[in-house]
Amino acid sequence: MKTFPRLILALAAASTLNALAEEKVLNLYSARHYQTDEALYANFTKQTGIKINRIEGKEDELLERIKNEGSNSPADVFLTVDAARLAKAHELGLFAPVTSKTLETRIPANLRTADWFAFSKRARVIVYNKSAIKAEDVQTYEDLANPRLKGKVCSRSGAHPYNLSLMASIIAHQGEAKAETWAKGMVANFARAPKGGDTDQIKAVAAGECGVALSNTYYVARLMRSTKPEETKIMEQVGVVWPNQATTGTHINVSGGGMLKTAPHKEAAVKFLEYLASDEAQRYFADGNNEWPVVAGVKVANPALEALGKFKADDLPVGSLAMYQVKAQMIFDRVGFK
Ligand code: FE
Repeated sequence: MKTFPRLILALAAASTLNALAEEKVLNLYSARHYQTDEALYANFTKQTGIKINRIEGKEDELLERIKNEGSNSPADVFLTVDAARLAKAHELGLFAPVTSKTLETRIPANLRTADWFAFSKRARVIVYNKSAIKAEDVQTYEDLANPRLKGKVCSRSGAHPYNLSLMASIIAHQGEAKAETWAKGMVANFARAPKGGDTDQIKAVAAGECGVALSNTYYVARLMRSTKPEETKIMEQVGVVWPNQATTGTHINVSGGGMLKTAPHKEAAVKFLEYLASDEAQRYFADGNNEWPVVAGVKVANPALEALGKFKADDLPVGSLAMYQVKAQMIFDRVGFK
């Protein structure tokens, strides 16, 4: 009979050890994979003793994986890019609400929701061919729909989150009717059927295949920092415009993440999200992909971002971008922005 309480004690000790062990691990599903991320994660482990198991994948694949794993998912935190994808994870009910004073005070209100947080910002800018287009003709997103640019506009797919989020911001600011007129005008101006990524649009603009296109800033910054002669040449051909400086400001998108509802290590997950909002992590997180920190006052020493200069950013809440995704897709479908 003596062995019984001993067994109970042993079991209790084992479960305490398990609980302790559990707190020291974080399963991170990340659609980010930049060199600086290594240092970002190593610092977290150094500070907290929490080991990070990283599962990397493409944005949509990772989301699908978490969805399929369901309540058995080992994922604690999901990091991805674009408000559209973060919104999708939210809509699927994958994120758990997080209450954190640190996140609330460090991340501006327009860059967080109840269950996901932005950790870096990117802007969607206009890129034009300097010998074919006058800068004053392409100062706003609205300009891209002006008939004088007929046959001059290149674009990536309308189904892509970057364009859907931009469209969502236009709906939020101007309403559906005006947004649809804009999309129609833009499609009427296409130089070719939408294809490729943002870098492909910049290349096509430089080559003169089109006069103007949209790109996220980190693609522009990447080319600006390139030492390859062919890429340096590309940037000599193109000009960059901060759109809508006289009105709503340049459309901003984010990369970010949240804690999953089924997270086995919730405490570690919140700690990690808070860590990403620290000065040091913000620098790594943003600069790793030539982006800007979300936390005010954190400075990044990035020559390309410095060269791009200061601009007025659209301060629309990221939650609004999320809200209009479906409407944005419906409008693009109606106007044939494939
Ligand atoms: Fe991208």
